[in-house]
Amino acid sequence: MFCGKLGLFYLLQVIFMLVLNDEVTRELLSHAKSEYPNECCGVLLGEQSNEKRFAKRALRLENKSAWDKTAHFAIDPLDIHKIELSANAQNLMIIGFYHSHPNCVAVLSKTDERYMLYDCSYLIVSANEGADGLYFKIASFEKIIGTNICREEQLLTESRKQHEEHVVYFGDSAHFRRT
Ligand SMILES: [Zn+2]
Repeated sequence: MFCGKLGLFYLLQVIFMLVLNDEVTRELLSHAKSEYPNECCGVLLGEQSNEKRFAKRALRLENKSAWDKTAHFAIDPLDIHKIELSANAQNLMIIGFYHSHPNCVAVLSKTDERYMLYDCSYLIVSANEGADGLYFKIASFEKIIGTNICREEQLLTESRKQHEEHVVYFGDSAHFRRT
């Protein structure tokens, strides 16, 4: 059972769902593949309504980490500022950020958790080598407002059918395999 005020606080928190259109899904996999074995990073532009965020575009950003790029990424705040201005002009907003985890799982690292912002999706694409190419998994997370608690959010892809030409779909949690 929930404990007093803290329980009520969590109950009032909306659990968001992130919806990716086909173009965005393909772009995420393509970007992760092209930067492999380095981490890729970028921004998700879209719309937010009620309990859903709709990603309409994925914009690639340069990984400006001064560390080993196979395990780190960094985004220039100036790049974000420029994107924000152009997004406003298109009636879109920044609804989240993405980066890849080459040779790793699609879960948040401690560093990811530390730098996560409130009120946006934080999507991770894992890319791991398999017998017949790279295997991908996409998962998305959010940080509960006013806390340091991060949790996985629901993720939906727009169209299972269209992906079948390019990837093998493994189920409802967006696992993909390059064919
Ligand atoms: Zn990460």
